[in-house]
Amino acid sequence: MNGNVQVVVIGGGYGGVTAANSLARRDGVSVTLVNPRPDFVERIRLHQLVTGSDDAVVGFGEVLGGNVRLVVDTATRIDAGERQVSLAGGGTVSYDYLVYAVGSGAADPGVPGAAEFAHWVSDIEGAERLRSALATSASAPVTVVGAGPTGLETAAELAEAGRKVTLVCGDVLGPSLHARVRRPVARRLAALGVSVLEGAGAQVTEVTRDAVRLEDGRELPSAVTIWTAGFRVPDLAARSGLRTNTEGRLVTDSSLTCVDDERIVAAGDAAVMTDHPFRMSCQAAVQLGPAAAATILRRIGGKTPAPVRMFFAGQCLSLGRNEGVTQFSYPNDKVNALRISGRPGAGVKEIACRFTLNKLVSGARKAS
Ligand SMILES: Cc1cc2nc3c(=O)[nH]c(=O)nc-3n(C[C@H](O)[C@H](O)[C@H](O)COP(=O)(O)OP(=O)(O)OC[C@H]3O[C@@H](n4cnc5c(N)ncnc54)[C@H](O)[C@@H]3O)c2cc1C
Repeated sequence: MNGNVQVVVIGGGYGGVTAANSLARRDGVSVTLVNPRPDFVERIRLHQLVTGSDDAVVGFGEVLGGNVRLVVDTATRIDAGERQVSLAGGGTVSYDYLVYAVGSGAADPGVPGAAEFAHWVSDIEGAERLRSALATSASAPVTVVGAGPTGLETAAELAEAGRKVTLVCGDVLGPSLHARVRRPVARRLAALGVSVLEGAGAQVTEVTRDAVRLEDGRELPSAVTIWTAGFRVPDLAARSGLRTNTEGRLVTDSSLTCVDDERIVAAGDAAVMTDHPFRMSCQAAVQLGPAAAATILRRIGGKTPAPVRMFFAGQCLSLGRNEGVTQFSYPNDKVNALRISGRPGAGVKEIACRFTLNKLVSGARKAS
């Protein structure tokens, strides 16, 4: 392709920022990133925003290369035929290539009362509302629904901050963890005074203003209910007539190219490679952003894009500020029994968060 190539990145999370920075380093490529907020949200610290140990926000000036044009707006539609993105603010941006990196947010559990009364931590707006709700009732009982990584981290963070927390697992505590790694997690929660409900019957069937009802008939008083089970992706791709899977993730081939249009490449939680499914995670997003950029750069150079290779190291969980658990995995994300727990586990988690942010900052410097 001759002349300046215009690339638009939709979404300024881990996937979008790493893609934008990788692309902006290349001469002859102009990058525009569209994001609804003027700053970068460190989603992996949102449970800390709730208790106030971190604000989970970093200026885009720190993480986005000076060569990247930031448009603070929300994409409302992708017109693949015209190669144009419509914005909520009324304008449009045109592209030669598009990176679809809109991430994920809270899932609607479809349980009566949950949409009306439950809070969530999966996006910053939800986390800020939750923080305000908790501030109005310091001693009131809190229920965290879902015992995946977000539920575990949120329950522990709140319990360490002195809240009375019940964790409703639905099934098992930490379903993504190895059975031997669940033990130190359970011990830590017990030490923090978290009441853990797991097994048959521990499914939430209704949320009310001040209680949670379980399948087995139990009713738990709950002034603040936090729903953490599952993420849902925005419906922008589906609304734009692009093929998505049942979760709404944009379907791509092994080079992250949209199966409907080779000018559209995806990264992060909102993408799904049909032949190589991966867990929605920051760990995946920071690998997929540069991989999406590489696919576009190869196409610009007239080459066939290469299949994406991803490597997972494990899952790092903070269990409050003072302890944590690192669950190691094989490179294909299958967990094993290796772990680091206690204070060293918290240290590994903090290093992982800082390392991730530093990676964005160094990518920004290279793209300035
Ligand atoms: C509390 C918590 C803790 C977590 N801890 C970990 C962890 O320890 N390790 C880990 O690997 N993962 C963790 N995750 C998951 C991780 O945060 C996500 O998987 C990751 O953020 C996905 O990155 P992304 O770039 O795909 O999307 P996101 O980071 O969600 O970014 C997407 C961006 O796109 C923007 N956007 C959405 N729609 C539009 C639109 N229409 N137009 C323009 N912009 C749009 C959003 O506003 C957002 O800025 C955690 C998540 C939570 C909530």
